[in-house]
Amino acid sequence: MTATIIDGKAIAQELRGNIAIAAAKLTKENGIVPGLAVVLVGSDPASEVYVKSKSKAVTEAGMKSFDHRLPADTSQADLLKLIQQLNADEAVHGILVQLPLPSQIDSTLILNTIDPGKDVDGFHPVNAGRLATGQRALVPCTPVGSVILAKKINPSLAGMDAVVIGRSNIVGKPLAQLLLAENCTVTIAHSKTKDLKDVCRRADLLFAAVGRPEMVRGDWIKPGATVIDVGINRVPGEGGKSRLVGDVNYKEALEVAGAVTPVPGGVGPMTIACVILNTLRAACASAGLPEPKV
Ligand code: NAP
Repeated sequence: MTATIIDGKAIAQELRGNIAIAAAKLTKENGIVPGLAVVLVGSDPASEVYVKSKSKAVTEAGMKSFDHRLPADTSQADLLKLIQQLNADEAVHGILVQLPLPSQIDSTLILNTIDPGKDVDGFHPVNAGRLATGQRALVPCTPVGSVILAKKINPSLAGMDAVVIGRSNIVGKPLAQLLLAENCTVTIAHSKTKDLKDVCRRADLLFAAVGRPEMVRGDWIKPGATVIDVGINRVPGEGGKSRLVGDVNYKEALEVAGAVTPVPGGVGPMTIACVILNTLRAACASAGLPEPKV
């Protein structure tokens, strides 16, 4: 069997186009230009690249981008002050604080200070609680993007056996909540799970969010399953260069799965598209408007 390759790049591009159309409609009909503030403390090269591509995507969608770059020695008090200013700024509908933060700053305190209505990363406990109780919430972007990709192959996920490897607050837990809301039967696996291979082999839908290069082998996959690889791992490549691989052994997965996401070009581009989507959703909610259709 040769699996269908789920082209996250193309699907994200299409989603971004639809978001731009919805944002233009919001601006025309309601006079609202969605705005996203991105806060970067320090100069971690990977974070710089990520923040740049987010800002570009925001502008391309017809939204406003407000970048705040602060030095690595910024105090917690100064960062809190900035978050409070952004909470009060009516032009800002979404606030995103790039992680990790330097060690002098308590990340949880900062994330919990963001107005839940502007929390486009969906990390605030109010949004986590809303998601868990089936209320309108801002949901973390990578899980939302992962479910959109799975639904491209299986328009209804109802009744499917879904296994999520990883239980982080950023990916694994919200992903499991979203799958439950889609009426999947959900198993969350983690580092203490026994017989992980057998657990995975039961899955119609297998999501790997572990951070271990190519951990999921071909014989862990149920023939015909949909495999969504969230992992991004840098490993040594040819000629002293590095390359990116996922948490799934892609070559082996192609032989067994029904559909699989590549790394790069799978979940990664969806995460950025969903940041823009959440900014649009936050802008609509702030004006008391219904969920935008994209
Ligand atoms: P994380 O916070 O480190 O969580 C990793 C999870 O994997 C934990 O729940 C851990 O279990 C579990 N795990 C570790 N080793 C395991 C093993 N041998 N067997 C089974 N489970 C194991 O990572 P994360 O932030 O969720 O990210 C996961 C991966 O997704 C990383 O590669 C990251 O780079 C990637 N990621 C990608 C995007 C994107 O845009 N594509 C966004 C976010 C993250 P315990 O809880 O028991 O420790």
